[in-house]
Amino acid sequence: MLFITVVIRNRKYIMAGRGSRRHIHKYHKISFAGMQVFACALSDCTHYMPQHMEAMIIGKASYCWECDNPMVMDEISKKMDKPICVNCRTKKIELPANLLTTND
Ligand SMILES: [Zn+2]
Ligand SMILES: [Zn+2]
Repeated sequence: MLFITVVIRNRKYIMAGRGSRRHIHKYHKISFAGMQVFACALSDCTHYMPQHMEAMIIGKASYCWECDNPMVMDEISKKMDKPICVNCRTKKIELPANLLTTND
């Protein structure tokens, strides 16, 4: 058994892995048997999260689709087809706010 320690924002995540699953999954939403499920996008990995276990995705490590850094899945990223981390989300929210500034 091999253990991988991932440190995200000073919190340590220890993950057990073997074979091709020895990585942080990069989750994205795909259509599988007519359902939307989270699956790992990495080429050597067949991992996916069955729909009845979708709630389990919260707290799982994944890679951000924007900056490619490890992140932890939360309620907001769970709703995204290609989850992005808190940093990238903040950037995205701030940008239109600046553009909406009016001068009257
Ligand atoms: Zn994977
Ligand atoms: Zn990011």
